[in-house]
Amino acid sequence: MEFTANDITLIVQEVIKSMGSKEVSTPEVKSKGNYGAFEKVEDAVEAADVAQKLLVRKYSMDQRKRLINALRVELRKNADLLARKVYEETKLGIYADKIEKHLAVIDHTPGPEFLTTDAVTGDYGLMVEEYAPFGVIGAITPVTNPTETIINNAISMISGGNTVVFNVHPSAKKTCEFCIQLMNRTIIENKGPANLLTMVLNPTLDTVAQISNHPKIRMMVGTGGTAMVNALLKSGKKTIGAGAGNPPVIVDETANLKKAAQEIHYGASFDNNILCLAEKEAFVVEEVASAFIGYMKEEGAYLLEGQEKEKVLQMILPFKEGYGYQVNKEFIGKDASLILEKAGIQYSRKPKLLICEVKKDHPLVLKEQMMPVFPIVRVKSIEEAIEAAVIAENGNRHTASIFSRDVDHMTMFAKAIETTIFVKNGNTLRGVGIGGEGYATMTIAGPTGEGITNVRSFTRRRRCMLADGGLRIV
Ligand code: NAD
Repeated sequence: MEFTANDITLIVQEVIKSMGSKEVSTPEVKSKGNYGAFEKVEDAVEAADVAQKLLVRKYSMDQRKRLINALRVELRKNADLLARKVYEETKLGIYADKIEKHLAVIDHTPGPEFLTTDAVTGDYGLMVEEYAPFGVIGAITPVTNPTETIINNAISMISGGNTVVFNVHPSAKKTCEFCIQLMNRTIIENKGPANLLTMVLNPTLDTVAQISNHPKIRMMVGTGGTAMVNALLKSGKKTIGAGAGNPPVIVDETANLKKAAQEIHYGASFDNNILCLAEKEAFVVEEVASAFIGYMKEEGAYLLEGQEKEKVLQMILPFKEGYGYQVNKEFIGKDASLILEKAGIQYSRKPKLLICEVKKDHPLVLKEQMMPVFPIVRVKSIEEAIEAAVIAENGNRHTASIFSRDVDHMTMFAKAIETTIFVKNGNTLRGVGIGGEGYATMTIAGPTGEGITNVRSFTRRRRCMLADGGLRIV
């Protein structure tokens, strides 16, 4: 049996009427979707709109917290399965690393407890300001962290009292459907509203436009490349844009070189370098460069030189007349060993990372390669390193790091690079709570300034004013 929008409205009215009752019945609104998966944008938005009204009008904050906790428990049980499904569908990255990414967002994305209240009292009354829901949010997700972004966005957005219509990356749509259905089923089993999360089964650029133009969508959140973020910014709606990065790392003459090599090798090879915040190129001060490369080799990196270097670079960054050097998508997120094999290079120990020395203006330095081929540039001084790193970062203001014991060097770089995430003496994953302090996110909003997004990013401020000194006790 199918329900029209009118039927749904009547159901909502009934539910709202029963709001006084202590017993929370499961308000499972029947809809055209299958646990959140819909054929049409219109139906996905409509269902998410009904669900959002239920969430804010019928559920207390305590109940919201309970739903988020139930989600964490169920997702934790499925982290391994989700990681495997993502790997099998996208063929990108490393399965074991994907488990770690999933656990990070499941356990370390802040929930409703992150919403605080500000209050001011005075002769003229009581003022309370709170983080209120935005409404229905349209969220665009990338292929590089497909379910990780959905989980992270879902926990943040639902915690803020919102519901979400996802336009997922087409190359990960089956796993994303599984993930969204799993979460909706868990919410319903825990007496929450149906369709807190919805998606279109066949996402396209056209469905992105339909979602962003829909009058019931109050906010757009885009996690992905620059073109997508720029397209969303034209929607005329409040937009949170989390765009591309090309994180540079500086190693200066005061650095602990062994530690720098361990950290950079780990970060740049994690999930085959498909994370936006992964180190993408290093600028190393001349006097320590050879020693640093030696330590990278000790970590297991394969140093490409001479003909081998030329061959791999031509393969991963072919030159096309009229387009210049382009990243060969065939190698994005692929294993370092496979890249060597395709180039016909023999190796004795399977590497996780290939390294090579190039000049600072090489396309491998300037482009976001998203594969485990890591360029190292020798520079004369910290000043040259900073100048080159700022050029390579390309104004993304995303992520950068430095290995140094010189506080002045760290400060000079931080001021010049202006990135959302700035890590000192550690791999850049630490900047999103994976092995570092602070909470986790998969939506790092540099272009629009929200930074490491959390539940508060997806709320709006509302003020409540009780006039004439009421409620004061002093
Ligand atoms: P992508 O931009 O190709 O796709 C992301 C999403 O946007 C997909 O759902 C896609 O269908 C949609 N899309 C693409 N072009 C669009 C357009 N012109 N209009 C509307 N929608 C469009 O990115 P990807 O390959 O999935 O992910 C990798 C990119 O995302 C990298 O550049 C990476 O740095 C970036 N990224 C950034 C963050 C962050 O938090 N800042 C997180 C993950 C990935």
